[in-house]
Amino acid sequence: MKLHQELLELRQTEKRITSEILTKLQEMENCRGYLKMGHSSLVDYLVRGLGYSEATAYQRQACVRLAREIPEIKEKIDSGDLSLTAISTAYKHLRGKPIGEKRHLLKSIENRSSREVKKMFLEPMTPLKIQKTEYADKVYLRLELTHEQNQRLEKLKALRSHKHSIESLLVEFIEKELKNYENTKFKLSNSKNPRQIPKRLRNSVLKSSGYKCQFPGCESKYFLQIDHIHPVRRGGKQNPENLQVLCATHNQQKG
Ligand SMILES: [Zn+2]
Repeated sequence: MKLHQELLELRQTEKRITSEILTKLQEMENCRGYLKMGHSSLVDYLVRGLGYSEATAYQRQACVRLAREIPEIKEKIDSGDLSLTAISTAYKHLRGKPIGEKRHLLKSIENRSSREVKKMFLEPMTPLKIQKTEYADKVYLRLELTHEQNQRLEKLKALRSHKHSIESLLVEFIEKELKNYENTKFKLSNSKNPRQIPKRLRNSVLKSSGYKCQFPGCESKYFLQIDHIHPVRRGGKQNPENLQVLCATHNQQKG
């Protein structure tokens, strides 16, 4: 059938392109060129720079990182024995394992669907698990507790008898913690250590940055650090004008 023939050819092209993209992404990861473009990580570059969905971006990143360690998996990806979804499902379970074991586990997930792979790595019960699902108008959080944690939560609820629901406890906690951070009145510190930034000054710098990395082009809201624009060791002062917010990656890059 002609249509089938055409699809087979397109599928071959698709495989070839996927493989080419992975090769180029590896180059990009090796030179970390995305940092200068204002991206905080390869995933960030894949999403904002190349327009991948977040889920796809994580898959690509997992493959790039694994392929750097175990180059032969690229052939398996090209031949279709290893799917990108299977690799990314297994990826987090491979972290920290010796290379021999990684190879062995990767071998065991060849030609399996991501659902099968998920079953192979049944996750152990973590002490506190939250499942988050985002919708256009709201976010659902599903919280998984051990019986012991639940008992402690019930105890807290009983102690705070005027608040009767877990929901109101949680909302109260969020508001209290945020208020703590958003309180930005500060005095310039008399502290002997010029690197140590008082909490209120820190909060004020964070607030004026919009709680995100200030490196040009970067939007990262994670692992934010306060950086002295003019370094302390070269006489940089600890005042708001000399402080900026950088994500860990850009702070590290600045050195
Ligand atoms: Zn950044």
